[in-house]
Amino acid sequence: MEEIEREIIEIAKELIPIKAISPESGGEGESERAKYLSSKLREWGVKHKIYTYKDRTGTSRPNIIASNGNIKESITVIAHTDTVVAGDINEWKTDPFNAVVKNGNIYGRGTEDNGTGIIAGMLALKNLSESDRSKYSMKLVLAADEEVGSEYGVQALIKDNLFRSDKMFIVPDWGTKSGSDIEVAEKGRLWLKFTVKGKQTHASTPDRGINAAKIGSALALEIDSDLHKRFCVRNTIFDPPESTFEITKREANVGSINIIPGKDVFNMDMRILPEYAPDKVLKAVREVMRKSKANVQLDVIEKSEPSKMGSKSSIIPILSKSINDVLGVSPNKVGIGGGTVAAYLRYAGKDAVVWGIEDGMAHEPNEYARIENIKRTITVLNRIFLPGKSK
Ligand SMILES: [Zn+2]
Repeated sequence: MEEIEREIIEIAKELIPIKAISPESGGEGESERAKYLSSKLREWGVKHKIYTYKDRTGTSRPNIIASNGNIKESITVIAHTDTVVAGDINEWKTDPFNAVVKNGNIYGRGTEDNGTGIIAGMLALKNLSESDRSKYSMKLVLAADEEVGSEYGVQALIKDNLFRSDKMFIVPDWGTKSGSDIEVAEKGRLWLKFTVKGKQTHASTPDRGINAAKIGSALALEIDSDLHKRFCVRNTIFDPPESTFEITKREANVGSINIIPGKDVFNMDMRILPEYAPDKVLKAVREVMRKSKANVQLDVIEKSEPSKMGSKSSIIPILSKSINDVLGVSPNKVGIGGGTVAAYLRYAGKDAVVWGIEDGMAHEPNEYARIENIKRTITVLNRIFLPGKSK
């Protein structure tokens, strides 16, 4: 086995059993993981600092910032240390909190999301010594709290001005199998909850009540069709190329088939192209609600703006060249409907791309990372900083 493969497996085996689930999801936070990663960096002689924020549950949320040198211009790689829960344990063929190596893959919760980013970032940094002649120094951020909004992770680091001298960022937290896609834009997001009020009665005497389920169903379809008609611009860097407006969770109402429900609650998930402001969509939703005359309450569960890179990017050509040299493919620029920390960096005017080589197993049961993909990610990252070295 190659040395680099041995190192990847060793870190995975030590990292994955250290749970780092957000306290908001009933977990312990990232403290133990950060302790382990910091001890690894210390062992390798890599300089780093830890920035810790206390969240509203009183839990410490540590963020590690490491660097390989003191060249003024740096490229910053950001991975996140927290993971989501395992989900239904019966769906897993292996213990989610043990890194199990099988057929060239490492299985376990967090092996891909964002274990690939952590391990590739750590080993890429280890491979670069301070004496390596390069145009840029490499910074590595191992951030907390990504899965529930980055309030105590990247958002806090931006607020505290810790990225003031950093311009270029790579976020290895999304990717395609070939590694040929660079994400440069993310759709905005609206999560809306509608509570329709009616009047409960026996199903045989509908005139005595108001059927909230019927009103809610009509309203949901009306909003769905109105938004699709109104916000129909296509932008082909995205897949799908249009904004999406989907009726999702419907809350349980009455317990019997013969009761007309007096309350109906439905939710919608909307992913909005950068061409539209989420507030404009929200205004359209309120208009449909007004016209329907339904007694309905709207709660905005989440609203985030779309993010798009500026037209002058330095990181895109640098990363593209490295991808081309190592993988032999010329990268495409793409947009996604999901969200990463790159959005916060872009809001702050930073030059941030999202890139990785992944099978797309995030948040799924039997999540795995291919060892080969982690190896290739390390090579691509290293090549950026050691442009003189051969493949
Ligand atoms: Zn992630």
